Amino acid sequence: MKIIVAVKRVIDYNVQVRVKADGTGVETENVKMSMNPPDENAVEEALRIKESNKANEVIVLSIGDEKCQETIRTALAMGADRGIHIKVDKAIEPLGVAKIIKKIAEKESPELILMGKQAIDDDCNQTGQMLSALLGWSQGAFVSKIEFVDQSINVTREVDEGLETLNLKLPSVVTCDLRLNEPRYASLPNIMKAKKKQIDQINLEELNLDINPRIEQINVSEPPKRKKGIIVADVAELVQKLKNEAKVI
Ligand code: AMP
Repeated sequence: MKIIVAVKRVIDYNVQVRVKADGTGVETENVKMSMNPPDENAVEEALRIKESNKANEVIVLSIGDEKCQETIRTALAMGADRGIHIKVDKAIEPLGVAKIIKKIAEKESPELILMGKQAIDDDCNQTGQMLSALLGWSQGAFVSKIEFVDQSINVTREVDEGLETLNLKLPSVVTCDLRLNEPRYASLPNIMKAKKKQIDQINLEELNLDINPRIEQINVSEPPKRKKGIIVADVAELVQKLKNEAKVI
């Protein structure tokens, strides 16, 4: 069984994001970039499935500019077998990403596609759901546990009422929650080994897909600055301020 893991290169979660002065987006020049955090959980889970002999190949796929190869290498250093880089120099919205992954899935025939529950740059939380619909495959979103049961998987998801367990027929698209596992660090020998692992690069044009944007980003702006906090002397003063100044009670 093959597993494809989709990993996105995003601004590192520790970076204080700055909005461009003209409101056309956020600064990405000279900013630390990393693998989208839930995608690390997806890579880790794929490796654990392979280590338990339920899969024999883990393929990492990333869509974006040349630098995405660094993100793919990170996953290869964690233990993935090979990478696929779809080279495109502009941002692609979730529907476009889903169409690209579908095309690769048709070529590679994986039984499982693991992705992050959402990308921390656009917070869309759409790509996995769109991909499973395009492929006509089963779908588990926000998954915090995966167990193999014969030719299917049981996935546990956190929902408002508690934990929901679903049985998914393979092939399936699963989007991973941060609670799924603790991603491993790459060891130095594995970082060295990863340099020799194969990454196939495909230009977006070769896939012959309509990924024209359906969404226009009109403006990006900073959230309003928060007022400085104050320390109150006691509960009575807190209640008085909530009533008379904040007017929330
Ligand atoms: P989103 O729907 O944008 O929140 O993204 C959800 C997930 O889709 C991410 O966690 C990734 O696993 C995958 N994904 C989105 N964009 C890309 C991309 N450019 N390259 C690879 N995977 C992506």
